[in-house]
Amino acid sequence: MQIRILAVEDDPHIARLLALELGRLGYSLDTVGTAAEAVAQLKARAPSLLLLDLGLPDRDGADVLRELRAGGDALPVICLTARDQPVERVGGLRAGADDYIVKPFDIAELDARIRAVLRRSDRGAPQELVQGTLRLTADEARVTGRDGPVGLTPRELHVLRRLLKNAGRVVTKAQLTQTLAALNEDIGEKTVEVYVHRIRHKIQGNGVEIVTVRGFGYLLRTL
Ligand code: CA
Repeated sequence: MQIRILAVEDDPHIARLLALELGRLGYSLDTVGTAAEAVAQLKARAPSLLLLDLGLPDRDGADVLRELRAGGDALPVICLTARDQPVERVGGLRAGADDYIVKPFDIAELDARIRAVLRRSDRGAPQELVQGTLRLTADEARVTGRDGPVGLTPRELHVLRRLLKNAGRVVTKAQLTQTLAALNEDIGEKTVEVYVHRIRHKIQGNGVEIVTVRGFGYLLRTL
């Protein structure tokens, strides 16, 4: 149920950051640097969402978007715009963007925007994920259990979401640390242990367990 994103960004630094940080958050990312490559990849890859820089070297990103919409494509699109260019922003939205984010952006905010846009669209909306009596809602914003919603802090939700999406497979402590680091959390492996400990307590009685795989990490499985 990985969400595939095509990012069109000609700044190699930002493109690398997007690939790294969104990858850590569990998205599958393809990045290209020109409008021409974007058009080719849209056809070849059928992404669930397009992250589109408006200032591209070969053409205006807004033109790509206009063409897409003119062809009847409802693909969710978030425009990336430079700071202090309100005209560009308005142009992007008029051309049919679902949302925009101003550079430099916070990756946690971009993550939230992506989820919100996907939630509003019917594309890339994955099915509910079920393990035991635990359910990760399709928008991945909540986990419910036998007795209703499981009260989780945002950080606990990130950890549990990662474990649920990888149910039956080991998720390393380093991967969980990275997931949290992407939220600008300054944390170590000890902190991960604390979160897992709290989550275990909160999901008791739902027919799943989080197993400690000594020296590696954690594995969520049904009982
Ligand atoms: Ca640019």
